[in-house]
Amino acid sequence: MENKRIYLSLSQESGYEQEYIDRALKSNWITSGGPNVDEFENELQNYFGNENFVAALNSGTAAIHLALILLGVKADDEVICQSMTFSASANPILYQNAHPVFVDSEIETWNICPKNLGIAIKDRISKGKKPKAIIAVHLYGMPYQVDQVHTIADKYGIPIIEDSAEALGSNFKGKQCGSFGAYGVLSFNGNKIITTSSGGALISKSKETKDKAVFFATQSKDKAAHYQHSEIGYNYRMSNICAGIGLGQMKVLNDNIYSRRNNHLFYKDIFKEIKNVEFFDNQNKDFVSNYWLNTILLKTKNQRESLRLAFEEANIESRPLWKPMHLQPVFEKYPYYGNKVAEELFEKGLCLPSGSNLTADDKSRIKEVIVNFFKRI
Ligand SMILES: *Cc1c(COP(=O)(O)O)cnc(C)c1O
Repeated sequence: MENKRIYLSLSQESGYEQEYIDRALKSNWITSGGPNVDEFENELQNYFGNENFVAALNSGTAAIHLALILLGVKADDEVICQSMTFSASANPILYQNAHPVFVDSEIETWNICPKNLGIAIKDRISKGKKPKAIIAVHLYGMPYQVDQVHTIADKYGIPIIEDSAEALGSNFKGKQCGSFGAYGVLSFNGNKIITTSSGGALISKSKETKDKAVFFATQSKDKAAHYQHSEIGYNYRMSNICAGIGLGQMKVLNDNIYSRRNNHLFYKDIFKEIKNVEFFDNQNKDFVSNYWLNTILLKTKNQRESLRLAFEEANIESRPLWKPMHLQPVFEKYPYYGNKVAEELFEKGLCLPSGSNLTADDKSRIKEVIVNFFKRI
């Protein structure tokens, strides 16, 4: 019998999802917005605490786009973005016809490098273009250098959009990731720590900005009996069915985080015994990752690819680290500030299967591939 496929990152169901979906169907709330959406927002708001206001949307990408709009980013403005990320962090800059300026990573968190961030800001200002916003990412769940990055941003008065799509449940010095920026972004895509099938949220610092986000997300309808619009609107609101899945998933959020951290300990234990590989871990106790994905650096690109193929042979999904944005054909022409850290991570790094649903049997299959591979090289 063929081994069942082990995927890179799946969520675990609580079993309550169906109940909330049925509630939406029975009450005929089969639309965007509705009681499940309100309740899901309340639960997220409780999770993040009082000074955070959550708008539930139909994707994390939509949340980034609305954050840019709320910060007044317009055509030809510049926005700084961490290069080492998923394309959804950067694409909305182009939706606004603004220009991305990419910044390298640093080696401790693999996230935006404070030194290069400072260099980039100064250089853009000297060219007469002060960046309008900074998009910083907690990649793979690991908090970025929050203190340093925010100190620099504050010094220049540039707001941060905190892309916490992969970092729900992570914290820095005890404060939740997603709550540091002028705006925080969550994703509930199928591969994230909890899923609504597709969905996201924008975390803002006042009820007014949250309400404004919901206004934009529901086609910017002015107060009138007829449809009246004085601003461009978007169809970005979360659906009541998806929010039902989200409510079911909230019941296992802590379990899912626990499973992911357990996966981390599982890998840490394996790699303790193995030379020639660097297992990515937090640098100190200030950085508390949800370990959404576990990642390693091999010695060479060839090694990385051979390990990936060895996993594939065993019907196990793994994936190279995200290809930096400044190396992507669509973003190549935009400025980049860095020292090739992101390049090297991309070349040698591999994401390991890290789903909340990994079983003991899955883990022993994964371990077997790793142990055999490093015996050979
Ligand atoms: C998933 C993800 C997003 C986008 O979220 P969607 O809900 O898929 O639109 C943005 N940034 C990062 C870093 C992500 O991993």
